[in-house]
Amino acid sequence: MSAEILDGKQIAATLRAELAREIDRLKTQGVTPGLGVVLVGEDPASCSYVAAKEKACAEIGIHSDDNRLPATATREEVLERIERLNADPRIHGILVQLPLPRHLNESDILRAVRPEKDVDGFHPLNVGRMVLGEPSFWPCTPHGVLQLLVRSGVRVAGAHVVVVGRSNIVGKPLAVLLMQKIPLGNATVTVCHTGTPDLGHFTRQADVLIVAAGRPHMVTADMVRPGAVVVDVGVNRVADATKKNGFRLVGDVDFESVRAVASKITPVPGGVGPMTITMLLYNTVEAARRAVS
Ligand code: NAP
Repeated sequence: MSAEILDGKQIAATLRAELAREIDRLKTQGVTPGLGVVLVGEDPASCSYVAAKEKACAEIGIHSDDNRLPATATREEVLERIERLNADPRIHGILVQLPLPRHLNESDILRAVRPEKDVDGFHPLNVGRMVLGEPSFWPCTPHGVLQLLVRSGVRVAGAHVVVVGRSNIVGKPLAVLLMQKIPLGNATVTVCHTGTPDLGHFTRQADVLIVAAGRPHMVTADMVRPGAVVVDVGVNRVADATKKNGFRLVGDVDFESVRAVASKITPVPGGVGPMTITMLLYNTVEAARRAVS
């Protein structure tokens, strides 16, 4: 068997076209969705993520406001910038690119974003609302995974979904959403982490296996039930002398071996990544829609 490739790029393009139509409609009401982007420091991966997000905004008609601060910026300087964006009526969503330099406390900074502009869904109020099943902004990567699955015809309702990873930005919210009694959820969920003995014992029970561990090629074919759907959230840089920049991106799943046993699989790159950015655009449009209604 060779698994069907779940094409995140294609699905993201369809979703972005839907969003572009919604933005045109909002513009007729005098509103252009606006995203404030805060980047502290010059971490190369963060710079490239921010560039990709701003490019995606421009392509579908979202106004983005670029706020770059040096790596030495103080807590007060970062908070002052966030306050300015909180108060700006042209800005509907605020994104603080993570990770922040070590001297800044991430949760302290993220709490400064007004919950109604928190398009990353990281503010404790939005996290709490999500857990309670109340309207909130869902974090972009977990929501992107759910959209990727449903738009590929994969039903998680009633399925056993195994999530590897329990981070606050991916594994934990993904598990919460998957277990909710909602059309995109209603799954039976198992969450694995470094405290899980014999990881393969659990991953082999998955109808849908979602891996977000940040460990290159960690999941191998013997850990996957034949016919399972495999979603690889991992993005890892591994050295590659044949590349101009000296590295290539690989997932947490050993793609070549696992595609021979899975029924469907996401590639890296081109799987979850484009969906994550798309859900950021989605939340920004949603924030603008709420601001006019
Ligand atoms: P993280 O904060 O480092 O969390 C990794 C999680 O995986 C932790 O819960 C950890 O367990 C678990 N884990 C690590 N090694 C494991 C092992 N050998 N067995 C079982 N569990 C293990 O990472 P993250 O922010 O969630 O990101 C995960 C990956 O997704 C990274 O490669 C990241 O680059 C990628 N990512 C991609 C996107 C995208 O848009 N495609 C977005 C976000 C993240 P403990 O809790 O026990 O330490």
